[in-house]
Amino acid sequence: MRPPSGRFIPASSGVEQNADGLVILYHQQSFAMYEGRLLHDPDVARYLGDVEFALMLGHLDGKPCQLVRLSQPADLPGVSWHGLRGLIGQIDDVTFRVLGLAQQLDAWHDTHRFCGRCGQGMRARVDERAMECEACSLRQYPKLSPCIIVLISRGDEILLARSPHFRAGFFSTLAGFIEPGESVEECLHREVKEEVNLEVDQLEYLGSQNWPFPNSLMLGFHARYVSGDIIPQPGEIEEAHWWPVSQLPGIPPRGTISRWLIDCHLARLEGQPLPPIPA
Ligand SMILES: [Zn+2]
Repeated sequence: MRPPSGRFIPASSGVEQNADGLVILYHQQSFAMYEGRLLHDPDVARYLGDVEFALMLGHLDGKPCQLVRLSQPADLPGVSWHGLRGLIGQIDDVTFRVLGLAQQLDAWHDTHRFCGRCGQGMRARVDERAMECEACSLRQYPKLSPCIIVLISRGDEILLARSPHFRAGFFSTLAGFIEPGESVEECLHREVKEEVNLEVDQLEYLGSQNWPFPNSLMLGFHARYVSGDIIPQPGEIEEAHWWPVSQLPGIPPRGTISRWLIDCHLARLEGQPLPPIPA
């Protein structure tokens, strides 16, 4: 797959007046790939179907980049459709970031067609990224859901757990949503206690990743084990174990912050510099 060369600057406004640039074509949670590309010239959209709506995403290498949602796209040779999860690890970080933003904004636009206060129609503002009610002027901005994600270490071992919906043999770091009224640190201690019954300390913030499933902002930490025996939380955690770093199970692919937290710990154990954080 051809990678874009690279620099993406998100837009702060909602609608692009200039039709030039690049478009991302989206329909029913999937992105169009044509001739090996996920970013297209605007002309391609015309062949594929009617535009339901378009939203400005930002600038990729100086070119405006828009999300275009199509209704009932034509079934043309050479066009395939791909969900974002299936593209993890298959596409470069910059493209993943742009598609992730596109997916989040599509969901936001789709769920804010009507005002939550008075029920009238809403429309995208031109001067900022907001939906505004035509009747009562309520504005709604895209929402993010902050989450903690934490790698817990105990000497040369790390704690990895699996949810009931993970594929067989696959384990990951612990994660959870920050609740109203709660600090990031309180959330981390609560989630670790709830999910595996452990106490941790020495919380170290390492970095963040926007995670568009559907709109999470993942705040990545490393924490050290203090006390407790693992008791998986019923319904949430199917299994959790301490894994020697030389014998890890199936872990998340590169490009995810959970994998990056693991890779950072491995790099430190080997005295290596930390790998770059995924976009
Ligand atoms: Zn209203």
